Amino acid sequence: MTFGCQMNLHDADFIRGALDAAGWRESALEEADAAVLLTCCVRQSAENRLYGRLASLKPLKEGSGLLIAVGGCMAQKEGVNLMRRAPHVDVVFGTHQYPDIAALLSRGTSGRVCATAMGGLSLSGQPRKRREDFRAWVTITSGCDNFCSYCIVPYVRGREESRTMEEVVEETGELVRQGVREVNLLGQNVNSFRRKEEGRSRFADLLRLLGRCCPEAWIRFVTSHPRDFDTDIMLAVTETANVCEYVHLPLQSGSDRVLGAMNRGYDRQGYLEKIRELRRIVPDVTLSTDLIVGFPGETEEDFEATLEMVELCRFDSAFTFVYNPREGTAAARRPDDVPRRVKGERLRRLAEATRVLTAASLSGEVGSERTVMVYGASRKDPARWSARTRGNKLVHFQRGDDDLTGRIARVRIVSAGSWSLHGELLEVI
Ligand code: SF4
Repeated sequence: MTFGCQMNLHDADFIRGALDAAGWRESALEEADAAVLLTCCVRQSAENRLYGRLASLKPLKEGSGLLIAVGGCMAQKEGVNLMRRAPHVDVVFGTHQYPDIAALLSRGTSGRVCATAMGGLSLSGQPRKRREDFRAWVTITSGCDNFCSYCIVPYVRGREESRTMEEVVEETGELVRQGVREVNLLGQNVNSFRRKEEGRSRFADLLRLLGRCCPEAWIRFVTSHPRDFDTDIMLAVTETANVCEYVHLPLQSGSDRVLGAMNRGYDRQGYLEKIRELRRIVPDVTLSTDLIVGFPGETEEDFEATLEMVELCRFDSAFTFVYNPREGTAAARRPDDVPRRVKGERLRRLAEATRVLTAASLSGEVGSERTVMVYGASRKDPARWSARTRGNKLVHFQRGDDDLTGRIARVRIVSAGSWSLHGELLEVI
């Protein structure tokens, strides 16, 4: 069971791979010898969900002796506290322990284990079991050195480290040889790839190299940091045919005062100039962002500055969050002084502003022809395919007899809803 972000979903592939190599097989929970839960602590809601899930596993533990292991960010942060709070958990393992999961489960059968040491993690060459044949994630950086004041990631994932260019290219090439058609480069801050090791970011070089070595696969990347997203990366996106024109660039706040308190390393003017340059260099880019409301000390004026930035930036989509203090971070030492009601009201206003922009962005697609990657049958309506444009916009279109999962197709966009597009199939490429 996996909670949280894309990084966690990707880590789950390594855990599956390590367990598979040790002879474990996936099964329905009722028949399982062990349950492995991969946790997230970036937001309070994920923590709450984990404890709810752990409580629901208790009867199984008492009935069949199910071994329960909890790993990931929250296990890293809480360690023995998690074991105290949930005495039926047998194994707690941190973010650098994934390759040893099978040995930890085995130790957990004869006594409770808490393994949260950090350092020395290398995912290169580790077995991995992917959930999809046509799409894969490749970690290029792990950890983070930015210490944004609200964020727990540097404490639970460790300091930033990049893999080598050769490792990334080799892994991506192997995936493409296995039939993968979309590779997602993953890191807390992909734009600083190799900066620490080589004194300058090699992310743009990596995009160009993947363009030459693996031209048949679409390349996406997440997450970018506005301070490190530079002109060379924009040029690499536009020059490299298989790199998709989609950038997720978290703004977080439109107030310079709040951005400073968040330790984000840029101001609103700098952000605006960057996205103007991005749209000039990559004219059909889709731009999404993250926004937080209710950061300590955020005034109505600060919040209105965020609303104003949303209008100025005209994001294609935005993920909006309410600030929750994360114990151990710098911001958590400040009073959480924006009342809950005010946070809720700001979230609603912000969500409405971004919803209008998303609808406008989608309406602008009507009448166009787009190349899409088909991800599979729509979960809501299995009679339709679910696909994404190179700009990461969701498109549904009618299914025929052929299985198009993992195929690239041309569609004409015929209408737009609030969150997705409706298209007609023109051809399968
Ligand atoms: S860049 Fe900031 S928000 Fe993103 S992971 Fe690093 S510390 Fe957290």
